[in-house]
Amino acid sequence: MSAPRLEIDLNKVFYNAKTLVTRLNDRGISVTGVTKVALGSVEIANVLLQAGVISLGDSRISNIKSMRVSKSHLLMQQATTMLIRSPMLSQVAEVLEYADISCNTEIDVIKKLSDAAYRRGYNHHIVLMVELGDLREGIMPKDLTETVRAVLALPNIILKGIGANLACRSGVSPDPVNMMTLSQLAEDIETEFNLTLEIVSGGNSANLTWALDRQNETGRINHLRLGESIFLGCETLDRKPITGLYTDAIQLIAEVIEAKVKPSKPTGNIAQTAFGKVLPMVDRGNVSQAILAVGIQDVDTDGLRAVMGIEVTGASSDHLIVESAHGTLRVGEEIAFQVDYSALVRSMTSPFVSKKYLPCRHF
Ligand SMILES: *Cc1c(COP(=O)(O)O)cnc(C)c1O
Repeated sequence: MSAPRLEIDLNKVFYNAKTLVTRLNDRGISVTGVTKVALGSVEIANVLLQAGVISLGDSRISNIKSMRVSKSHLLMQQATTMLIRSPMLSQVAEVLEYADISCNTEIDVIKKLSDAAYRRGYNHHIVLMVELGDLREGIMPKDLTETVRAVLALPNIILKGIGANLACRSGVSPDPVNMMTLSQLAEDIETEFNLTLEIVSGGNSANLTWALDRQNETGRINHLRLGESIFLGCETLDRKPITGLYTDAIQLIAEVIEAKVKPSKPTGNIAQTAFGKVLPMVDRGNVSQAILAVGIQDVDTDGLRAVMGIEVTGASSDHLIVESAHGTLRVGEEIAFQVDYSALVRSMTSPFVSKKYLPCRHF
């Protein structure tokens, strides 16, 4: 089988998604499955829909387009799609074409969406993102009312809800205080304009600890956008495994191309490595070292974790160096790694890493 490859166990992805959807539905929260790490993979999107997500979310319109135009999956063509990054002004036409909902923070963009939707004679739904302290996207809370007023005056734009995103740029944790702020903002908007917000979207996988803690009131928050927790089975504040989920739904497999016993300490004058680091060098005697045919071009090698006894000790563009505590590996042997989000997104994006889907038996 070709290596390097990502092995994506759709049974485990399905199980993780369904478990989270069920637990959150129990708390009055629906889930949008975020596909950006999967580059809009049709196989993965289909599994998420089967597991009960209410829509597919992606930050890139090209990914949404590839899911939408997929001929083979009827479910996909009918699924609601959500662009979770603010649309580029230059992409308004594609956004209208492929995304049913977009998350927005700039009135100029919303005006252009409105103009284009009006000309086409159909409606576009938007979620207004609010800044709650992480300092990535979001309208400042004090400006929300005025923005809503401006949005409601625009033809062919339907205000579907409001949302927030935390723990991405600055690592600000979702907690009862900032979630209550979002809830309160939703209620204020509803009262002021005499409307109902269908979606109050609390955030991403970092919100799970808050959302699943029965001590916390969920208030008006009725929606989360989940990616990493579904694919990697962990929450994202401390990257702890979530009870009952698989953390090995997606693995990277690479092949050994050299296996030798070598000294652990290099010989000669030490300057920078290929990627500019200067490594601390300790003499640990001779070690069983192997080279795998995968590198920094294909994956964030810092985000790889092999089975016990195999440790990543170095990497360059096309080579991954590991040491084995169980004696020498064999040339041709395959090694499986667990991936973190960064390793996953890069290997998904690399054309040199093939993708092998283990089919889902659950539907
Ligand atoms: C990436 C992203 C998500 C999903 O985040 P995960 O940590 O993968 O759950 C949700 N919302 C927005 C706006 C995002 O950019």
